Amino acid sequence: MSEILSLFPNTYEASRARFRADLAAVQQLWPQARLSQHKLAGKEDLTIDWIYADALGKNEKVFILTTGEHGVEGYVGAAMQQRFIEKFMPQLNPQNTGLLLVHAINPWGMKNHRRVNGNNVDLNRNFIYDGVFELVYNPAYDKVRSTLYRPTLIQSLGTSNFFFKAELLAHLARLGVIGFHKASLSGQYRDAQGMYYGGSEYQEETRTLMQLLRQALSAYEQILHLDMHTGYGPRYQMSLVNSALETGTSQEFEQKFNYPVVVAANPEEFYAIRGDLVDFVYEMWQHEFPQKRLFATAYEFGTLGNSYFGKVHCPVEMVNENRHYWHGALNEQISEQVKREFEELFNPSAADWKEKAVADGDQAFTGILRAEGYFAGEAAE
Ligand SMILES: [Zn+2]
Repeated sequence: MSEILSLFPNTYEASRARFRADLAAVQQLWPQARLSQHKLAGKEDLTIDWIYADALGKNEKVFILTTGEHGVEGYVGAAMQQRFIEKFMPQLNPQNTGLLLVHAINPWGMKNHRRVNGNNVDLNRNFIYDGVFELVYNPAYDKVRSTLYRPTLIQSLGTSNFFFKAELLAHLARLGVIGFHKASLSGQYRDAQGMYYGGSEYQEETRTLMQLLRQALSAYEQILHLDMHTGYGPRYQMSLVNSALETGTSQEFEQKFNYPVVVAANPEEFYAIRGDLVDFVYEMWQHEFPQKRLFATAYEFGTLGNSYFGKVHCPVEMVNENRHYWHGALNEQISEQVKREFEELFNPSAADWKEKAVADGDQAFTGILRAEGYFAGEAAE
């Protein structure tokens, strides 16, 4: 297997073991680096693992890399994290720079190949800065609910997909593309088996991350945080998705980072959501550490086609997977197909996809680390 392909792990356990073993490489540069875990409640051996290192001299800047917030997306995320450790970490300056590397924010989802956690919560709808979980948020969800979640066993994928697409077209005609995105993707807090459910309280994974992020933001003057995701956007292209709270324009960032695709998470360019991890970091910065320098963004490795149904951002494969999780399918063949199609959406198997993903990741790491002044011996722009 090529060096690039071997970056992509096959199981949660193998990925975690490799990450834990990475501590030795980090300690070559930061001798006091430490590996820590938060074990999730319950009997299973599921842990959020992180490596933290203070700067050797003065804590000036910190580099934060988080992966696997959406469980199944953690396989690509872990590949990028490993790539960072092997290729980019040695170019940082341990004297003034610290590290926080987080493996699998959502270990249950990574292990079980779901996006959500064990409570069916989409953690990227759970990072609500003010801690107010409003049942009534996104009233338009009620209009699309029966299309996004049908509480019955899947008898036939052909029939299921046909009805989904027919209803989708009706919603698009009625609500428009932006209206449909808002209704379906922005999150909801009242349908616990439904899609993009944000929960009724902070999840333990969320609390763990919030604490780590608050520590890092308080300890350093400059913060750079990159969060790894897969799914949305054109296939064979990683998009940098900036927070709606970032005031610079996407065009400015494309130039600054020498990276071709930067979008903002607002309804015009991407889609707006509540409880987003990167938004949370911006809110914490604005409220608690406004005098510091922050840049945070998400890498979104696109897997969807450019077809009409790919572009509307609500793939039938996700709807089928959620329905299958709760209600099952008529036979094993349908079950396997549902799981395979969902996996392809968030952890593609094609070698050329993986190679392009790593090339895009390299280009973004280079551009961002350079612009933010993280390469040893270079000043920030
Ligand atoms: Zn994601």
